[in-house]
Amino acid sequence: MSRIASVLLPMPLPEAFDYAEPEGMELQVGDQVAAPLGPRLLRGVVTALREAAGGNRPLKLIEAKLDDPPLPPGTLEFIQWAARYSVDSPGSPLAIATRGARAPKARPEKVMELTGAAPARMTPARARVLEAAIKPLSPADLARAARVSSSVVKGLVDDGALVMRLIVPEVRYPEPDLALAGHPLNASQAAAAEALKAMVREGGFNVALLDGVTGSGKTEVYLEAAAEALARDPAAQVLVLLPEIALTQAVIARFESRFGARPGEWHSDVAPPMRRRVWEAVATGGCRIVVGARSALFLPFTRLALIVVDEEHDSSYKQDEGFIYQARDLAVARGKIEDAAVVLASATPSLESLRNAETGRYRWLKLSSRHGVARLPDISLIDLRETPPETGRWLSPPLVQAMVETFAAGEQTLLFLNRRGYAPLVLCKACGERMTSPDTDSWLVEHRYTGRLVCHLTGFSMPKPDKCPHCGARDSLTSIGPGVERVEEEARGLFPQARISVFSSDTVWDAKEARRLVASMADGEIDILVATQAAAKGHNFPKLTLVGVVDADLGLRGGDLRAAERTYQLLAQATGRAGRKDRPGRALLQTYAPEHAVMQALKAQDRDAFVEAEMAEREIMKLPPFGRLGAIVVSGPDPQALEAFVRTMAEAAPNAEGVEVYGPADAPLGLVRGRRRKRFLVRADRTVDLSAYLATWRARVRPPGAIRVSIDVDPYSFL
Ligand code: ADP
Repeated sequence: MSRIASVLLPMPLPEAFDYAEPEGMELQVGDQVAAPLGPRLLRGVVTALREAAGGNRPLKLIEAKLDDPPLPPGTLEFIQWAARYSVDSPGSPLAIATRGARAPKARPEKVMELTGAAPARMTPARARVLEAAIKPLSPADLARAARVSSSVVKGLVDDGALVMRLIVPEVRYPEPDLALAGHPLNASQAAAAEALKAMVREGGFNVALLDGVTGSGKTEVYLEAAAEALARDPAAQVLVLLPEIALTQAVIARFESRFGARPGEWHSDVAPPMRRRVWEAVATGGCRIVVGARSALFLPFTRLALIVVDEEHDSSYKQDEGFIYQARDLAVARGKIEDAAVVLASATPSLESLRNAETGRYRWLKLSSRHGVARLPDISLIDLRETPPETGRWLSPPLVQAMVETFAAGEQTLLFLNRRGYAPLVLCKACGERMTSPDTDSWLVEHRYTGRLVCHLTGFSMPKPDKCPHCGARDSLTSIGPGVERVEEEARGLFPQARISVFSSDTVWDAKEARRLVASMADGEIDILVATQAAAKGHNFPKLTLVGVVDADLGLRGGDLRAAERTYQLLAQATGRAGRKDRPGRALLQTYAPEHAVMQALKAQDRDAFVEAEMAEREIMKLPPFGRLGAIVVSGPDPQALEAFVRTMAEAAPNAEGVEVYGPADAPLGLVRGRRRKRFLVRADRTVDLSAYLATWRARVRPPGAIRVSIDVDPYSFL
């Protein structure tokens, strides 16, 4: 009897395709196979096997079973779950889950090895080469180590004393050393660590919210939970998720010193061959600790026992392009599938997690003070209406005064402005023309370092022109508003002797550069750091005592569901960078709205009051976490066809109790890359299966060729 294999392919197809299993292949669920699709051969994964009932139409044969580790059942189940939740095809999360398996293998390297035979002739130079060749080195490295020319090495090869081999360098993930001890914990840390360890010991799925002020030692505490998980089961694996690549290094270093073993590292900046190794080591149980960015959640863990989501409130966990998902929520789902413990850690937890803690769905562990003598910084507001900066400047006199004092005391300042580049807008003084991105509702941002105007939405860029493209006036283009580069320029003018750096995703290209900058800040080699949120999160800078928030109102302007929450979280994080060691810190927030609830809560350091007010508002509106939201963005190049289609779509919306549909409306971002955009917003009660509702709706309509429908469950962007 032959069998039929359902094979999921890493593409946006609605379901797995059936193939015939060739005689003798003996497939199992989870196996990676090469399967033909049209003229192509694709890497897919077997999701089900069944006996063929005779009389079926002939199926294509699977081409080959690949010699790569299979996807464990938990990973497969998670992929299916994630696809259903996000109302997407399972091929999309599968593509993320198998990215590591599809990465190229490391290429073999040439190394020189001793054969054991003595050379016919010995010279001092040759002796040095033979001595250095105890270690396998490349021919060039060997010559360098022995301080000889390459001809000496070649001579020894000709003589038969050395031989060249090709080896694939092996990377091992050593077993964590569980005999090592962590730092002695203070009383509240010890209590939280005990509670987490008990949760891990109990086994099974459980979620804890580790709610501790910045610098309270949350990392120390979850390291103990990891130790417990690793000790309880020799095959157990631990995953730590972080929102920013720049944060991974510090956490990796802390795991390395706690367990004497380097964890696997997973994010977009890890070179493909290395990614492949991590993937394989995770799939075969050889790597027990992974520290990574959100996509690490899709790795093929064989026995996942603990997931930590650090900075769980961070909106970087929401991926809103391609496969749309919120990694914090999916981490909880994966924990459930794998029967694992989940720890969500933050100083400013999301309202969703706080609500789950309040209602007892999550255990709630609190750390209310900083470790040791460190105190939380004093926070004051600078009312920009009363003490404005000079025209064309962005730092107000009280902030400059504080910077003068900080610099004089040999301490560090962080100027926080969540805006990349030099100026967010360039306009023509002569005709008023604003420089916008082609076919897109988005301003071009001026970048002075590169001399270009850049669209942060589409990536379009052009050199800054010397005359207005609209009216042709020369030297009429003016930069409006500040970005980090402009604040740096101002700081340089004020403090010519200070060492000043900028930290934003434009100036810090990769993990290595981020590491270098974070290290030099931590070592006190920088006096003033001007930074976007890339540097405002999680880091420990012992000599940082002043945080200046250049534009505290920036995040409030969007006015979307989470504007106030996000602003509160971001500014609490940014101000929380100050005074993390023995020196007291302070934070100054420049604002035009000092009376706003967010500013008042920050000033009073009264998170609970802010949360309570925000929760009450959301409850009245039945918005998350008291209800669910889904967004549908429909886009197309032709306005009339788009209008006709969204009308059909509106009529096709299913009627369901506890669900309201708003729209279609023009999206605030009405035009992107020449495509018009329309939005629907769906609000549902918590008891409604919103994913199922959206899936039903979408199945009722068939968008014509050029029109795209994108569904976002629990949207973070309302553009
Ligand atoms: P959080 O994650 O809550 O911001 P961290 O775990 O990063 O806090 O701790 C802040 C700083 O205090 C770190 O430098 C950490 O090494 C140190 N620290 C925290 N707890 C302890 C402890 N029990 N013993 C020694 N150092 C500690």
